[in-house]
Amino acid sequence: MKTTKQLILILVLSVMLASCGQKKVETDTSHSNDTKGKKHEHAVINSPDDALNELKKGNTRFVDGKSETRDYKEQVQSVKDDQHPHSVILSCLDSRVPPEIVFDQGFGDIFVARVAGNIEDDNILGSMEFATKLKGSKLIVVMGHNKCGAVKGAVDNAELGNLTQLVDQIKPAITGDKSNPDKMLDETSKKNVKLQIESILKHSEVIAALVKEGKVKIVGAYYDLNTGKVEFMN
Ligand SMILES: [Zn+2]
Repeated sequence: MKTTKQLILILVLSVMLASCGQKKVETDTSHSNDTKGKKHEHAVINSPDDALNELKKGNTRFVDGKSETRDYKEQVQSVKDDQHPHSVILSCLDSRVPPEIVFDQGFGDIFVARVAGNIEDDNILGSMEFATKLKGSKLIVVMGHNKCGAVKGAVDNAELGNLTQLVDQIKPAITGDKSNPDKMLDETSKKNVKLQIESILKHSEVIAALVKEGKVKIVGAYYDLNTGKVEFMN
């Protein structure tokens, strides 16, 4: 039989424990609010259009000089166990076109494959299939740019070691009037992006099926070295 004193003690302890539990809930709530405040760093992406909007918004932040401030050390920890990047970008080797920076994205946000002239091959396709089918990326972007050295190499019939076969792969895109070299380079670079997209869909059954099902979208983009702006081509 419990005495009255013992019963009061039990009651007091119960109230204390309950208030501790309450405090913990409050702490958790404030933590989730903190996470919400940093939404841009890992935006919620549920569709290909969400991913496209995130890249558009990121490029606008970059062009406006309002890129997010990121704690890279913290970001390393936040993605150390897994990754679910919303997009995969195929971009040129050019040092002036770094996708993470021009789209203002952080660790774990985008997959990036880079090769001179942003051309697809079996290894790029395998990487894209990994990104989309296995890791759930919802958007594929093939991004060319103006004043591209690889495209100029194709137009000029450049020959050098393995570079010869690389620029040969861009040659089907050559278009325009040689009397206006800058315009010709621009037109050829843009056509190259379109041909690479066609090629990706033609050579990857996995990606073609995902696109057909509406789970993945594939778009062209064109980066302007003069302004930092990305123009989406669809
Ligand atoms: Zn280039």
